Amino acid sequence: MIRRQAFKYELMPNGLHQRTLRRFGGACRFVFNKALALQQDNRAAGGKFIRYESMAKLLTGWRHSSETPWLADAPNHPLQHALKDLDRAYQNFFAGRADFPTFKKKGRGDSFRYPDAKQFKVEPGNARIFLPKLGWIRYRNSRDIAGTIKNITVSSKAGKWFVSIQTEREVAEPVPTAISAVGADVGIDRFVTLSDGSFVAPLDSFKKHQQRLAKYQRRMSRKVKFSHNWKKAKAKVTRVHRDIGNARADFIHKATTTISNNHALVAVEDLKIVNMTRSSKGTIETPGTNVRAKAGLNRAILDQGWGEFGRQLDYKLYWNGGFFMQVPAHYTSQTCPCCGHVDKANRKSQSAFLCTVCWYENNADVVGAINVLDRALAQLSQPSNEEGPDMARIACEVNGAVRPSAAGTHRSDMQEVLYAQ
Ligand SMILES: [Zn+2]
Repeated sequence: MIRRQAFKYELMPNGLHQRTLRRFGGACRFVFNKALALQQDNRAAGGKFIRYESMAKLLTGWRHSSETPWLADAPNHPLQHALKDLDRAYQNFFAGRADFPTFKKKGRGDSFRYPDAKQFKVEPGNARIFLPKLGWIRYRNSRDIAGTIKNITVSSKAGKWFVSIQTEREVAEPVPTAISAVGADVGIDRFVTLSDGSFVAPLDSFKKHQQRLAKYQRRMSRKVKFSHNWKKAKAKVTRVHRDIGNARADFIHKATTTISNNHALVAVEDLKIVNMTRSSKGTIETPGTNVRAKAGLNRAILDQGWGEFGRQLDYKLYWNGGFFMQVPAHYTSQTCPCCGHVDKANRKSQSAFLCTVCWYENNADVVGAINVLDRALAQLSQPSNEEGPDMARIACEVNGAVRPSAAGTHRSDMQEVLYAQ
């Protein structure tokens, strides 16, 4: 099978490079925003969606226009790719996978892609990369590149520039070593809880970063705006944000690696919906302001984290020969996995579940995770599911007794899936 992988390095641009990179990033942002405005105006006037091919022709006009002569200074391929990005954003919106595309703002981190490997050169031995109209730029060669280079993306974050090198290579078809199927419930007090009862601890490591952030933000607020000391304090704040970002990335990578190495099938609630709803679920009936503040902090940190968690689980499981599934999230926290009774009152508190009918009792997050796995197994047993047979086989291999049926899985089967190992 073909493995696609990205290798990311920090660029070490000189002053001229940096100014040019900012200009190129600005040009790509300009093209993206201009095309988006055009789509919106066109739609308001009753016109049809402008396809990428037509938009690319308009771009040629903009590059030669006397109003925007500086566009011709930017490399053509990344500008075209900005239009492709917008096109993909629209397609995702049309398919219901994403919200409506929004305008890109200056200073929110620029990025642009060189889609054609003929346009650039990478010399890992000399730790340098050649980009059209920029020349050779050095990068921190922190790890080896594997595979054939397909394209590169240049991006900036918190004042630094990075290059992400995408590669492809043929690797042997993976043989899954893990055979268990597991459901996962993501949350605020616990990052993720699995249906086998294990969980990834809350994010205490972020506390010290949060305290540092508050300290430097206070320091910044006491300085005269735009003064030398204000700028120094602002740089500190930016740095803490970067540290928090790095800690989060590290945390999510470790969690997804552990889970994907230990399980062949992982089912999670639909993470897009989780992102929108989890705040209210996370704070119900939890006494004490401390908990609330902590939940608010963790939520802020994880806002983008759950989506990334799912994305990484998906590809890491795939690399290991396993499967990743997302299932509808409705009532997973209120349904009794034992008798199927759905009741808000089943949820005694943030952490306690007690069924009002059959008195089944468990940690509420574990109950959520069991219900997620239950739904996944039921989905797999539907004949319309193309990948179903393969994934159901893995679920069945957990032990011979498990046979997901269209009617759903019974508690006795569930227990065998979860605890038989
Ligand atoms: Zn019950």
